[in-house]
Amino acid sequence: MENCESEIHRDACVGILDHEQLSVIDQRKMESEINVRDRVYCPEPTCSALMAKDKLLKHTNEFFLGAEQVGARKCMVCGTFFCINCNFKWHYHITCDEFRKT
Ligand SMILES: [Zn+2]
Ligand SMILES: [Zn+2]
Repeated sequence: MENCESEIHRDACVGILDHEQLSVIDQRKMESEINVRDRVYCPEPTCSALMAKDKLLKHTNEFFLGAEQVGARKCMVCGTFFCINCNFKWHYHITCDEFRKT
């Protein structure tokens, strides 16, 4: 069933593909549904998960008070805190400019 690689045929392929193959298709579908400017990638090289900005913020707010104001985000996959403004690992107490100079 080579058509199973196409997301259009996803529903028709449920029951034919195993769980892992289906999750790959779901992941691709999710990527295509996220607006390019709403995409955020985890800066952790071993993770680099793709997330939607609004979902990521909601997720982070459960762990981090005032996350929206300071730009801190928590990766939904690996749990790494990072900065939405400079997309590096989260830098406590210093601004993005200060962080880049260090
Ligand atoms: Zn991550
Ligand atoms: Zn920053």
